[in-house]
Amino acid sequence: MTYQLLPSGRSEIEYLRVCVRSGGESLMKRILSEKAFEEAVRYIPGGVNSPVRALRAVGEKPLFVDHAKDVTITDIDGNDYIDFCLSWGVFIAGHANPVVQEAVQKAILNGTSYGIPTVLETHLAKRVSELIPSMERVRFVNSGTEAVMSAIRVARGFTKRNYILKFEGCYHGHADHLLVAAGSGVATCGMSSSAGVPDGFVQYTLVAPFNDKDAVEKIFAEYGDRIAAVIVEPVPANMGVVPERDGFLQYLRTITQQYESLLIFDEVITGFRLTLGGAQKFYGVTPDLTTVGKIVGGGFPAAAFGGRKEIMSMLAPEGPVYQAGTLSGNPIAMTAGLATLSVLSEKGLYNNLNIKAEKFIAELQSILRDKGVVINSVGNMFTPFFTEEAPRNFDDVSKSNQKEFARFWRYMLSNGVYLSPSQFESNFVSIQHTEEYLSDVLEIVRGY
Ligand SMILES: *Cc1c(COP(=O)(O)O)cnc(C)c1O
Repeated sequence: MTYQLLPSGRSEIEYLRVCVRSGGESLMKRILSEKAFEEAVRYIPGGVNSPVRALRAVGEKPLFVDHAKDVTITDIDGNDYIDFCLSWGVFIAGHANPVVQEAVQKAILNGTSYGIPTVLETHLAKRVSELIPSMERVRFVNSGTEAVMSAIRVARGFTKRNYILKFEGCYHGHADHLLVAAGSGVATCGMSSSAGVPDGFVQYTLVAPFNDKDAVEKIFAEYGDRIAAVIVEPVPANMGVVPERDGFLQYLRTITQQYESLLIFDEVITGFRLTLGGAQKFYGVTPDLTTVGKIVGGGFPAAAFGGRKEIMSMLAPEGPVYQAGTLSGNPIAMTAGLATLSVLSEKGLYNNLNIKAEKFIAELQSILRDKGVVINSVGNMFTPFFTEEAPRNFDDVSKSNQKEFARFWRYMLSNGVYLSPSQFESNFVSIQHTEEYLSDVLEIVRGY
């Protein structure tokens, strides 16, 4: 193994590449990660390219990854961790999945971008559309942020209305007009919004608490005929997992139809996560527009938005809504997406995954109940909250004990388990988390 970043660290690694456990207490060393971080902050703001990676919310310094396989990540000090973050939900089929890897290795020999169409784009669009039939037309972009931003532009162009309604604690990427009451990293940093976003840019963004029909009703009574779209994470995961209650999603479908507004499901996390057909299939509620990301790129920067033909035909070159991208539909990303979806298309895969996950989460809950933890979950997505009652919205989530969460997180890390590093995130069970791994994790949790 060579460490080009830190050639001088080599002998130190050999000396320190140990994870000594004694009496359940870990003496894991992260000396090289600390050095790498010192170096990184000299060139990169905060040393990271996405804020939550800095691990500030859990009172740690970032670890630097050397490699990953299945559900194990190995840091540059040689420590192994069982990963439940999985690149924020990308690797439902595990890190370095051999089917995806082989496809990508072949594809890369043909060149990596042309700025000219390839049939791969059509193949993946067709596959996405078969699996999520409401996405009659699909356009690929490079990130979830871009997918949501573009879906909203299309919704506004189609309805000729300006307002959008989003929910507190739902995160839809970092586009200016969506950085209002956004969960995830924004919540972690304690920003209600972001500096650098002029008031005028968010003047058309309305916000309601999640699961609150009355609040939505009131907003529609006042703004209804000016609302282009309601956007929602069908399983909010960026304030930690907070499931819908009492048919909230169906209610949103009904009221948007009543006012001729569009319903956008941001399935950047949930697309291909709970079922192949996304959360819309899981809940049986069909939106007008959908965004997918994370899983669909198979570990490469790809995402997509899509919906009914007449809405999507507003897009240039067919219609007047402009949207474009130099690397959009990138052949390597399309290849990784196709390979990932082929792995996920195995019969019974989601059923087995969700049964395994639900059993694990139930055991986790029974161990942690005494420690004042409530676990919110849907299928294979889960978040432990240090609070008495299961959170129903962002307000509830904010009242949970984040110090306790951070303490628990650090305990898990020091025992070789990498949970998503914030109270405001989801953890993911993947098809590669074997029963063996899961029972090891439960054993570690028992020691907390
Ligand atoms: C991750 C995420 C995004 C943003 O995607 P990026 O690829 O990080 O830009 C948008 N919406 C949801 C629901 C997400 O989880």
